[in-house]
Amino acid sequence: MTLLIRGGRLIDPSQEIDAAFDVLIADGVVAAIGERLEPPAGAEVVEAAGRVVTPGLIDMHVHLREPGQEYKETIRTGTMAAAAGGFTAVACMANTKPVNDERSVTEFIVAEAARHGFARVHPIGAVSKGLAGDELAEIGEMVGAGAVGFSDDGKPVRHPGLMLRALQYSQHFGVPIIQHAQDMELSGDGVMHEGVWSTRLGLPGIPGLAEDLNVARDLLLLEESGGRYHVAHLSTARCLELVRQAKHRGLAATCEVSPHHLLLTDRAVAEGEFSTHLKMNPPLRAESDRQALLAGLADGSVDVIASDHAPHHVDEKDQQFSAAPFGIVGLETTVSLVLDRLVGPGLISLSRAVELLSCAPARVLGLPTGTLKVGAPGDVTLLDLEQAITVDPSRFRSKGRNTPFGGWTLRGAPAGTVIGGRPIRLA
Ligand SMILES: [Zn+2]
Repeated sequence: MTLLIRGGRLIDPSQEIDAAFDVLIADGVVAAIGERLEPPAGAEVVEAAGRVVTPGLIDMHVHLREPGQEYKETIRTGTMAAAAGGFTAVACMANTKPVNDERSVTEFIVAEAARHGFARVHPIGAVSKGLAGDELAEIGEMVGAGAVGFSDDGKPVRHPGLMLRALQYSQHFGVPIIQHAQDMELSGDGVMHEGVWSTRLGLPGIPGLAEDLNVARDLLLLEESGGRYHVAHLSTARCLELVRQAKHRGLAATCEVSPHHLLLTDRAVAEGEFSTHLKMNPPLRAESDRQALLAGLADGSVDVIASDHAPHHVDEKDQQFSAAPFGIVGLETTVSLVLDRLVGPGLISLSRAVELLSCAPARVLGLPTGTLKVGAPGDVTLLDLEQAITVDPSRFRSKGRNTPFGGWTLRGAPAGTVIGGRPIRLA
């Protein structure tokens, strides 16, 4: 199959391109980019006039819930949400039931995604068997089955010896260890950020120090072991400073930030009257943290924006703030939030946004995508910068409705995805 995407504005930070270029995809890979390409005989043509054309966007932190919690999300609904949200690929975390800690589970995810997927699915395997934190999982076996990184996400890798061995062993396969950074003793039974607002509201807090301490420890381990280390959903100013310093020292440390930590603070928990759509882990932090994360987007110390898409059933979220599970959905809001709230006011450029959402996650996970260089996979996202949307959770493709952004009006939206030269059509 041959596809010509014609008349758009191509933004590909991997090649420093921002130009009115057409993209020709043949046999699944980029065959040519340039001005006014002629469609070969029999080619399908996608008219992209007025659209921005980018390398396919990648959300490297998603919970698809299958196997085991299909009432929350399935690989089918999760990848439909990804496609609707402008993503051509997601990486899915290992805290399914059973846990993705061995080859058979990784193979199941890859097979389900191939049968039902509206986006590419890259499994993240567990670091420890059963996420129990005791014994290394079968990392090599899972890499063989398609795993692209390893994480006990949902929980930290608590034992320093296990983190050290994971960093050492993962080097044989060139894959990153992705840490959900949280010192469990310090975070205790906290349900929101520990600060002025938790004190006023009388809710137990999770100090920023719980994240900082865990990452400081891990960076020392990284210095000792080598390997690649990635901080998931980084949320504090000091933690970002630790990662920044580690990069300056030449360590292979990277990090991601989620849209909610860039746009909301702990104050929202008070103003939102304890809506459980404001309960996530790590929690919404202080304004000073938010400002530091925004500065990190602009100066390059934040590598990736990832949604931490964590669907829960409405009944699970419909309880007291302290009893509800942590997490919000994000696949169908991330792109519009980034375009309207970050690119719109000039906090970052459109090219930097594409870097954060595509080139960089591909680099962290070692994927061949995230670029439209000739010969790369033909994964493309189309964006409409002018389209205004109002976030309506009842219309999500995801089974999850748990978002704090319902009712927000945003300018800029995904307008379509293409995977391997095949336009994705949602029924
Ligand atoms: Zn997490």
